[in-house]
This record gives sequence, C-alpha cells and structure tokens, in this order.
Amino acid sequence: MIYADHAATTKISHAAKEEMMRVMEESWGNPSSLHTPGQLAKEVLEEARRKIAACLNAAPSEIYFTSGGSEADNQALRSAAYWGAKKGKRHLVSTAIEHHAILHTLDQLKEEGFEVTLVGVDQNGVVSVEDICRAIRPDTALVSVMYANNEIGTIQPIAEIGRCCREHGVLFHTDAVQAAAHLAIDVERDAVDLLSLSGHKFYGPRGVGVLYARRGVPLRPLIAGGAQERSKRAGTENLPAIAGMAVALEDAAAKMPQETKRLAALRDKLEAGLSKLPHTRINGGKAPRLSGTLNVCFEGIEGESLLLLLDDRGIAASSGSACTSGSLDPSHVLLALGLPHEVAHGSLRLSLGAETTEEDVDIMLQEIPKVVSYLRSISPVWEELESGARPHLI
Ligand SMILES: *Cc1c(COP(=O)(O)O)cnc(C)c1O
Repeated sequence: MIYADHAATTKISHAAKEEMMRVMEESWGNPSSLHTPGQLAKEVLEEARRKIAACLNAAPSEIYFTSGGSEADNQALRSAAYWGAKKGKRHLVSTAIEHHAILHTLDQLKEEGFEVTLVGVDQNGVVSVEDICRAIRPDTALVSVMYANNEIGTIQPIAEIGRCCREHGVLFHTDAVQAAAHLAIDVERDAVDLLSLSGHKFYGPRGVGVLYARRGVPLRPLIAGGAQERSKRAGTENLPAIAGMAVALEDAAAKMPQETKRLAALRDKLEAGLSKLPHTRINGGKAPRLSGTLNVCFEGIEGESLLLLLDDRGIAASSGSACTSGSLDPSHVLLALGLPHEVAHGSLRLSLGAETTEEDVDIMLQEIPKVVSYLRSISPVWEELESGARPHLI
C-alpha cells in the first residue's frame, strides 16, 4: 500500500512508540501524587513540556497539553473570545480556509452573540496581510489564521499578521497543526499569542495535542476539575502520549531540513507528471506550500470515485479534508479559491511523508493517469465537455 495521506494522520514513529512503552512501564504514576512514583511521572511530564517549548521557542510554563488539535483550537478561541467580551470586545477575525475545529467553534460563538469576520484568500489560497489588518476593529478580541492549510498546503504570512495584531493590541492565534513537521515555528519571531499542535500529524500518537499560550494570555478551561495543567485543563495527564509526542516533535524538528527538501523534490516530480494531464489544475501551486502536499483538480470527475479506485490499486489518498470526505459538499477551501463547484468536486490531495519513496511517486504517476482516463471515459460530464456542449472551466 502506498500511503499518501499524511495530512490526515501519520504513522507513529519508532522512537515515539518506544518512549510511550517506556513511560507505561516505568513512569505510570499519577503526576499529581506526592509519592515517588507520582514524582517520577511528574518529571517525565515536565521534561516533555521543556522539549515542546524548546521546539517552539517558548517557555515551558506556556505549554498546555490537550487531547489534540481540535481541543487546542476550541480552547484558544473561547479563551480569547470570553476575555474580549469582558472588555466589550465581541468581534473575531479568521479566514475562510480554516479547519472545521476553528470554523465550527466560530459558528458556536456567533450563536453566543459574537461577531465573526472571515477574510477570504486569493486564487492561490493565501490570505493577504492587508486584508487581515483591515478587518481589525476597535472591538476585535482575536485574530486566528492557520499556519498552513491542511487541504492544499499553502503557508500563510504568519509573522506579518502577528506583527499587525500586536500593533493593534489584538490577540493572535494560529492553528499550526499542519506546519509542525514541515516548518520551523518560533512564537517570538511570529508574534503569536496562542498556537495549536496535534501529536498525530508529526509521527506522534493521536488524542494528544498542545496549546501554547503566551504568558499573561488568560486561558479558560474547557474541562473543569482538578488542578492539572495549572488549572487550565483538568484530567489526569495522558503521560505516555504526551511523552511520545514530545519525542516525535523533537525528531521531526531535527530531520526537518533534509526531510522537507526530500519531500519537496518528490512532490515536484509528482506535480510535474500530473500537470501533463489535460484540464488539470494544481491548487495552491503558485503559493509557498508545505513540502509534502499536492492538491489537484481533474475536470469532469468526482474526487470520491477517484479516491476509491486508487484505494483498489493500493494508493491511499484523500479528496480533501477527512471531515469533508463522505459528504457531497465540495471543500470550503477550494470554493474559497474561487473554484466553481463542478471543479472543486474533482479534487485529489496527495500528502507525502516519512515513508514515501521515489518508487511510490513513480507508481502514483503510472496509476493516477489511468484512473483519471477511465473515470473520464465513463463520465457524462466529461462527454459534454469534450463535445463542446459545455465549456471547459480548467
Ligand atoms: C488535523 C487537524 C486538526 C485537528 O487535530 P486533531 O488532533 O485531529 O483534533 C486541526 N487543524 C488542522 C489544520 C488539522 O490538520
């Protein structure tokens, strides 16, 4: 099986798995306990916090462990929103291409009386710094812009947006879940106040994530209970997962310079080959992108059928975000690029990672064109396009 869906999840690394096993065997105490097994576990917890903080150029006291990227996103937005509301600031700014963990939380906050401005992106999938700055009002509490997009891989101008938010005295959150294994994140350089990570997107375990909150940023617990995580996230810590995630992040950071180069070369080869197919569009192709991500639209076919036929041929890909697959709605990200519904339906996301080899890319370059041709040969839409009954859109 060729796995080309690293943006959905990654296979846990050997080092992370070993660390989890070690912690389960040796450090199974409750970090809140005062006895020796508890204190040994507490040391493991704080060591993981130091490792993660170092990878982000943050202080350990600014790192909070959560159940994943979704929880970190939810907590960041709610903390900033409720804090703003106390000062009469009930306006939030974000973008049209965010993950649903952001967009659906914003929908809930709207129901609670907050006002939300979603800034659009250009046809390449990049948000403009000016557009974000212009959306900031005197009653804006928070700006949230993802570091890199999960469907098309485009990298957003985070440091510039961070500077603008700071000038305006507005909190800045970034969902950096996709960026973690691919880009060097620095919360000082990027002027970030809140940042989300998820273990399973960088070869760590799932069900664990990080919320970075700059000193002084008032976090509000989503889960009330014990005093864990300095009373900002109750519940006995998932220590094996936390320790495994810390090892995975350190590993990913160490391998990043070489690995991103390797993946970019493989992605570019894949992109060059697939671009030769007629009426094909590379989404986000003209923007700075994550090294392993490729998102393509093939006119006249459905992404879902493409996905299933590729799976039959041993290639695991995605038609966009894991959350939209299975529904017939086209991706909100592709629609935000200005693509018509018909085109957005025919999208394929190939996301490469640690296990991807050049041979995998060669096989994909053999198989994908065959499947595209086959699906077009049985597509009534393609027939209309080719006969001129309907104009080609790409
Ligand atoms: C995967 C993902 C999330 C959700 O993370 P979980 O740990 O699966 O909850 C949030 N944002 C982005 C951009 C993602 O890719």
